[in-house]
Amino acid sequence: MRLLLMGAPGSGKGTQATAISKRYGIPAISTGNMFRAAVASGTALGHQVSELLAAGLLVPDVVTDQVVAERLVEPDAVDGWLLDGYPRTLGQVSALQACMAHHGVALDGVLAIIVPTEELLKRLLLRADIEDRADDTAETITRRLAVYHEQTEPVIEQYAASGFVVRVDGVGSVAEVATRIATVLDPLTESAV
Ligand code: ADP
Repeated sequence: MRLLLMGAPGSGKGTQATAISKRYGIPAISTGNMFRAAVASGTALGHQVSELLAAGLLVPDVVTDQVVAERLVEPDAVDGWLLDGYPRTLGQVSALQACMAHHGVALDGVLAIIVPTEELLKRLLLRADIEDRADDTAETITRRLAVYHEQTEPVIEQYAASGFVVRVDGVGSVAEVATRIATVLDPLTESAV
């Protein structure tokens, strides 16, 4: 099964990506996690992206597209994957399409977790107190939400126009949202197998 998981910063997509990955036995591939890991281990990629991440700005498409294309050919991703946080721009949509066409594979679905902006802000500010993420400051949070609105919502609209998007209410406990997602995805897995 090949899925995209879309959602604003603070929508809980990282948490739900882990749950989906376990339930369906596919790797959850998070561009945010890959970039943070690169920064933490001080690789050339890490040096290239650390300031952008800390500022809440997107990494250029050309860099992100290559990171994803390389990840998708790893052995664990041959039979399926869940992309968390990619594609985030219309340019990345085209790159992913080209990459998938090259490998002769197709998407099974696009899942969007929907959470109202006030709730997102509340969650992100709370997380800023708990975790030590460089991009969880009030200023950066506002920027990431604006970037999401400007660049990523059009991506959801584009997939929605081709009838691909399933929207799931992201307000509630982690378990509640996970159940809503499973209700949507279980039938898809049956048809994908
Ligand atoms: P969030 O959804 O909370 O912003 P992520 O972990 O998905 O968290 O992303 C963190 C940061 O990593 C982004 O603000 C951006 O700088 C970078 N990033 C992640 N995915 C992408 C992407 N697809 N394109 C460009 N930059 C990305």
